[in-house]
Amino acid sequence: MPRRRTVLTALTAAVLTGVAPAGPAGATPGHAVPPPEKVPRAVGTGGAVATVDPDATRVGLEVLAAGGNAADAAVAAAAALGVTEPYSAGVGGGGFFVWFDAATGEVTTVDGRETAPRAMGADAFLGEDGEPLPFREAVTSGLSVGTPGTPLTWQRVLDEFGTLSLGEVLQGGTELAEEGFVVDETFRRQTADNEERFRRFTPSAELFLPGGALPEVGSVFRNPDLAGTYELLAAKGVDVLYTGELGEEVVRTAQEPPVADGAAPVLAGLLEESDLAAYEAPLREPTRVEYRGLEVYGMAPPSSGGSTVGEALNVLQGSDLATLPEVDVLHTYLEASALAFADRNAYVGDPAYTQVPLAELLSDGFAAERACLVDPVRAAAKPVPAGVPDGGYGPCPAPAAPTDDGGPEGPSTTHLTVADAAGNVASYTLTIEQTGGSGITVPGRGFLLNNELTDFTFAPADPTRPEPNLPAPGKRPRSSMAPTVVLQDGEPLLAVGSPGGATIITTVLQTLVDRLDRGADLADAIAAPRASQRNSATADAEPAFLDAYGAELTARGHAFAPVDEIGAATGVEFLPDGRLLAAAEAVRRGGGSAGVVHPGEG
Ligand code: GLU
Repeated sequence: MPRRRTVLTALTAAVLTGVAPAGPAGATPGHAVPPPEKVPRAVGTGGAVATVDPDATRVGLEVLAAGGNAADAAVAAAAALGVTEPYSAGVGGGGFFVWFDAATGEVTTVDGRETAPRAMGADAFLGEDGEPLPFREAVTSGLSVGTPGTPLTWQRVLDEFGTLSLGEVLQGGTELAEEGFVVDETFRRQTADNEERFRRFTPSAELFLPGGALPEVGSVFRNPDLAGTYELLAAKGVDVLYTGELGEEVVRTAQEPPVADGAAPVLAGLLEESDLAAYEAPLREPTRVEYRGLEVYGMAPPSSGGSTVGEALNVLQGSDLATLPEVDVLHTYLEASALAFADRNAYVGDPAYTQVPLAELLSDGFAAERACLVDPVRAAAKPVPAGVPDGGYGPCPAPAAPTDDGGPEGPSTTHLTVADAAGNVASYTLTIEQTGGSGITVPGRGFLLNNELTDFTFAPADPTRPEPNLPAPGKRPRSSMAPTVVLQDGEPLLAVGSPGGATIITTVLQTLVDRLDRGADLADAIAAPRASQRNSATADAEPAFLDAYGAELTARGHAFAPVDEIGAATGVEFLPDGRLLAAAEAVRRGGGSAGVVHPGEG
């Protein structure tokens, strides 16, 4: 059934630039049309949106142009990403939302993290032999499916900060799902990467391998089932997932994954309807550190994003990065990151289950204790030991036992950033964990279920110390998502975030250093070559980073493992002249999409 194009679209299409034309109008399914143009930088007034996808950016800008605020536009753009980035985001997953409220000057966050089923114990990811399950087996399973947090996050965000109804903000995503989007290289490649997994589940193969084949670049991809799900949420509210028929289907799918004939069975899920009914998306105090006279706000536990970025910034605070040569800056950044990761791994988990020493991790005294371990020239041997956040700050501590260096990381997840004309800011990272989540689509509903519970630590790395991130009933797995907002004199200066598992933290940190210490504007800071030191023997590094700095940093004792790319950041900056700069990737993950409501001088 074709839907009417919204009034909103017709009214606003003319004022939007830097984004795709509205939908693949006139395109016939299967016919090649060029993917919409992607623009990594846009400057202007009236509001700004930066996402990884031009259709999602357009949908967000349409909501702003029609009078919605940044919260409304962020949810609308997220729902659009559920269509065009179904392997990274959607109603089957979770995320974290950071909000700057222009009227009150306050920063608030919504924790939309998935929870473990009540039936999940600490040994859930151990095999019969007591050894951790193979990661691949856990990823593609019902067992890793946590209670979805995204629908309640959207409702909570609209209730607390927004001006429009869920039905209104879902309109753009619903149309996009119904009318389709143009398949680009990135979508085809992500589908290809998941092809084998999707073939294991009948509804995933039917949806993402139409006609049994990978979608062609330039073809139009429709998801009427997802349009129907959005319409159901609009009509009945998110209770339809937490206490209603959609929830029953989610539970059935996790418990009895719809495995294709002849495919190998997968581990069944533990999710029950009572888990959905008990789910909450609480407001949480943000993390806050002062850096170079600015206030940096982030996501508190169960994410380690805010605490780890914040601790690393505190460690860096003592170095005058603005005057140091570039290689010294990067050396210091890599060392600070390793120290902060050691503490993250040792101390951060769901605060309802683990005493996270958050205030101390973010204190200046603790940072000084950690910073004294950074040699200005030589890299420390990795992994470095965790510090002891016991409140007593003394001389440089002797090294203790090293901590583990975290788990495997993939390029999944998505981050979007929105600012409106009133100065409200939304910084929102959402995910279904792995690219393609669990690989399991809810039959007839057009969305994938998350595999977020693989973010738990399967078994303690060191049985002699407490492990903060083991599974437990109702617990939220530790995240690395780091949606960030930076204020200057109480007003927003910028907001930024990225996907990429634990590399999210280093991408946000490196972008902040480039922007705040090195004088790059936000778009250039996002474009800069990246490296990610997460307290491992080797740091991941992009080829351009290695070309530029690899030799000098290696001579100082750093070791690198080359990776194609790290992260896919987006951000918005408030320029001194009152205009907004929306920034996205120029190249990574096929390039992102930045847009403003009124381009140019405004
Ligand atoms: N599940 C990850 C986290 O919460 C995000 C997924 C990813 O970006 O790989 O940290």
